[in-house]
Amino acid sequence: MFKRVSGVKDILPKEIPFWQRVSEVARQVFARYSYQEIRPPLLEEAALFNRSLGQSSEVIQKQMFTIRHHEDLYALRPEGTASVVRAYLENGLDKSRRFAKFFYMGPMFRAERPQKGRLRQFHHIGAEAIGSDDPGLDVELISLADTLLTQFEIHGYSIKINTLGCAKDKEKLCSNLHNSLNDTLEGLCDDCKVRFNQNTLRILDCKREACRKTVASLKVGEAFLCEECDAHFAKVRQGLDTLGISYEVVPTLVRGLDYYTRTVFEISHPGLGAQDALGAGGRYDNLVAELGGTQTPAIGFAFGVERLLLVSGYKPQAMQSCLVYLICLGEEAKSKGIKLLSDLRKEGISCDTDYECKSLKGAMRAANDAQARFVIIFGEDEIKKDCVTLKDMSSGNQKEVALDSLLKEITC
Ligand code: AMP
Repeated sequence: MFKRVSGVKDILPKEIPFWQRVSEVARQVFARYSYQEIRPPLLEEAALFNRSLGQSSEVIQKQMFTIRHHEDLYALRPEGTASVVRAYLENGLDKSRRFAKFFYMGPMFRAERPQKGRLRQFHHIGAEAIGSDDPGLDVELISLADTLLTQFEIHGYSIKINTLGCAKDKEKLCSNLHNSLNDTLEGLCDDCKVRFNQNTLRILDCKREACRKTVASLKVGEAFLCEECDAHFAKVRQGLDTLGISYEVVPTLVRGLDYYTRTVFEISHPGLGAQDALGAGGRYDNLVAELGGTQTPAIGFAFGVERLLLVSGYKPQAMQSCLVYLICLGEEAKSKGIKLLSDLRKEGISCDTDYECKSLKGAMRAANDAQARFVIIFGEDEIKKDCVTLKDMSSGNQKEVALDSLLKEITC
């Protein structure tokens, strides 16, 4: 027996209604905000992510699934933003209309150590708005994320925001951090000791108690921000206040990828345990230029669908129901039943039948399991009279119905 590889999941029929509802609701919400769907491939050149996420990011250092094929190195996409920007540039979407808003849904791959809420194949629902540095757009993105959660009927989450400033501010923040951590290096975990030289900002969101204590004693205020970035962040907060969106400013909130600048945000839920982020995002004002385009500011976010499922309170569903269950008794009825089933389906009626040659009792049980509203019994007598026996499963009433008025009887 083969088993699925560690850290991936089969999404079984009983969970499918959740996935369908989430994608339907998401599509409706994205349409309200004028975001258009884009479907980049799952496979990209590995260099795309090396270039955009940053060599020192954890995703690049440890988590990318790469595939060598002849001379080429590919990667299973670990996130959507870099692919969307690549598609935006490669397909000339920056030329037709510089400002563009996209959404996407689909699997992402990261070679992480599997645990609750942390998989090696998981799904993102994400949005990217490319072509503006208006703080109103940051507010729109956060409001969009908030509306999605409300429409998914997920409650009890909290929104944390912060600003990293522009590239220059970020450098200043890193060097301030470097200086203030120099004396307290011994208090950091082994990973953070490595981060100290490679990716200092990540020390700010290390979850280990010792590192949290060290970080709490640092002064990570807004002093590193230039005037413009300070004003930008003030406008973002003001916009969120105007919309009545609750949020907390968390000066230690940083994102693990190099491309983030200015506004970053994370939405967490206490029901998730250690991996408590439902979704996250932020501005990436330099990424389009990094990937070969002109200087084009942008912002995006993504939710992890498996984590939405964990906090949704969704109860796995029984079998999918059908309107009609056909029970054929005898060989002649069986061969004629094929046509009857096909005619009903052509009329848009969802119906099923027994392929396991069950007894009438067994077939009735199967109809019950399928939550059929009607059962059609079709045997020798019915064939002779050109009719069927129709049982209404909710009332238990049963009557003979002529074949030519069956459709009317079922659909009225
Ligand atoms: P990120 O691109 O890391 O900011 O991820 C955005 C969201 O995707 C997170 O907030 C999680 O909800 C989800 N996510 C990220 N990594 C994983 C993973 N390994 N397994 C399941 N969900 C994940």
